[in-house]
Amino acid sequence: MSVRRYLSTRDQAPAVSLDEAIAAGLAPDGGLYVPERLPRVDLSAFDPDGDLAATAATLLGPFFEDGVLVQALPAICAEAFAFDAPLRPLARPDASVLELFHGPTAAFKDFGARFLAACLRRLRTTDAPPLTILVATSGDTGAAVGAAFHRQPGVRVAILYPDGRVSPRQAHQLGSFGDNVHALRVAGSFDDCQRMVKAALNDTALQREMPLSSANSISLGRLLPQMGYYAHAALGWWRRHGAPLDFIIPTGNLGNVLACLWARGMGLPIGDIRLACNANRTLPEFFAGADYRPRDAIATLANAMDVGAPSNFERLRWTFDGDDDALRRTLRATSVDDATIRAALLRHARDHGEVVCPHTATALAVLDQAPRRDGRAWAVVATAHPAKFESVLEPLLGQPVPMPPALASMLDRPEHSAPMPADDSAFGQWLRALR
Ligand SMILES: *Cc1c(COP(=O)(O)O)cnc(C)c1O
Repeated sequence: MSVRRYLSTRDQAPAVSLDEAIAAGLAPDGGLYVPERLPRVDLSAFDPDGDLAATAATLLGPFFEDGVLVQALPAICAEAFAFDAPLRPLARPDASVLELFHGPTAAFKDFGARFLAACLRRLRTTDAPPLTILVATSGDTGAAVGAAFHRQPGVRVAILYPDGRVSPRQAHQLGSFGDNVHALRVAGSFDDCQRMVKAALNDTALQREMPLSSANSISLGRLLPQMGYYAHAALGWWRRHGAPLDFIIPTGNLGNVLACLWARGMGLPIGDIRLACNANRTLPEFFAGADYRPRDAIATLANAMDVGAPSNFERLRWTFDGDDDALRRTLRATSVDDATIRAALLRHARDHGEVVCPHTATALAVLDQAPRRDGRAWAVVATAHPAKFESVLEPLLGQPVPMPPALASMLDRPEHSAPMPADDSAFGQWLRALR
């Protein structure tokens, strides 16, 4: 029987099954888990009347083949994809917006976090010691993971976020869970938070004392399901128009880009993939031909994309067998500064009533520069609901942005968070005290 194997991008760890890769988060050699090869799917395998959950279950089936979760995959997809990801037209006739913000925390990360939670719940045995899930967040990941695991038995969550660099509403949301979900405001940047999580996961002594896992987009259990909404949108488009759909993706840690690229690699009708980055230029410079040079993040209006060392870059390189030139030929990245984000936000709101979050606005700014092409269309990926970023939008637009009800009820709860220095050993001590 062929068992699908998952390898580490650093090649120094044994191959594992999908459930082992999902449970572990990071590979023991510090690399990221990747499938040995991308499966191909036949487009006729997808039910033309299937909803998003059905499309995702068909798409992800080959990854789960022979594994312990294969029987549960349709139910896992039904839990994770319990809300829609509609494609809505924009004023520009060759463009639409793929709205990924209809989940409980109003950002696309709800899909991956809920999928991961649904997998881990089924993988856990009842007599196992509590699992502690670590998550570094520039805002939205932490909320999505907190919501997905809140009150799940046998699981604790530690959320690390850069103090003062998330919006007030995001900070409130991160601290609103309580119970088994702990919010730590770190005196540092997102990259510090990410480093602290990686250091804890790589600390074998700590891992022996308490099982730790990650829920960042480095976890395959979050990355794989993100392919689902690209597949569903592109298939729908292809059935209606007989053409592939091109995507413009607001980009930080490259999870969303990688999911789109992998879905295309599996045979889905996806055309060009454009990365919209903020003033953090690591990726735009690399794609313009410079060496890959990770660096400290700088703060921008699109704060969930304030990333100077994108965590999935290793996976992206792996996807191209380490051939950077092939990678550069395949994807393009554009950097958008804060003034341009503001201008795009204002122009689309004023001229067309298109009110978007600052991350989605970086993609609209890239769309504004993109030429019209016969028979082709752009889908701008809307990564969060604008109401999460009221402190940016309301002064600019001079009007309130109405909140979706799930977000409003989360913000009615009290907020609790603890301070944490940007120090690996301080975080290790805090974790040990949790036991
Ligand atoms: C996380 C996030 C991004 C960046 O996504 P990556 O998968 O890390 O590239 C963009 N926009 C919003 C609103 C986010 O929360």
